[in-house]
Amino acid sequence: MTTHRLATDTDNGMLLIISGPSGVGKTTITRAVERSIPDAVFSVSATTRPKTEADVDGVDYHFIGEQEFLRREAAGEFLETAVYAGNRYGTLRAPVEAQLSRGRLMILEIDVQGAKSVKGKMPGAFALFILPPSEDVLLARLRSRKREAEEVIQRRFKLAQGEIAEAKRCGAYDAFLVNDDLDRSISEALRMVGEARRARR
Ligand code: 5GP
Repeated sequence: MTTHRLATDTDNGMLLIISGPSGVGKTTITRAVERSIPDAVFSVSATTRPKTEADVDGVDYHFIGEQEFLRREAAGEFLETAVYAGNRYGTLRAPVEAQLSRGRLMILEIDVQGAKSVKGKMPGAFALFILPPSEDVLLARLRSRKREAEEVIQRRFKLAQGEIAEAKRCGAYDAFLVNDDLDRSISEALRMVGEARRARR
């Protein structure tokens, strides 16, 4: 006889939202959490932003065109969508639902707009915002990546300042983590996630 698992039998399935401005070490922390927790799954978003050399299609994002994004949005395929720096981003609903019903830890690396939207729909999600030690450090990190021109860096820096202010104001985040030391931040993120999962059991 096959036993059927209901969505409510999730053991400790949990949605983990990780946000933070670019240059704060968010992706490194997210990927470390994904590797350290055996049942963690990273949600691969769809985006219209152009693929960079650092991106792997289907691993970092599903890179799709504007028309396809709008079609999929109209078809209800996204749990949430946002426009960030002029590009569209969306979390695909089906994998999130499938993984949560299996009791997995589903990780969403999304911006503040997305976090607000998801927390509104799924209040049991645990939302973590990564902060830089200071604004000066953030600007220095954005510059050290040597990925973009100064004008782009300044634009990203302004965006980051706005995001930090909104994250603190909006009430969507359960925890804030200052990334002053990567190893310590990873351990701290793992500790917070473990505690949140135990509390939701
Ligand atoms: P980037 O282009 O630097 O990879 O991402 C830009 C911003 O979009 C980051 O803050 C990232 O976390 C966010 N982002 C990535 N995927 C999604 C998504 O599916 N939904 C939302 N709301 N934001 C996303």
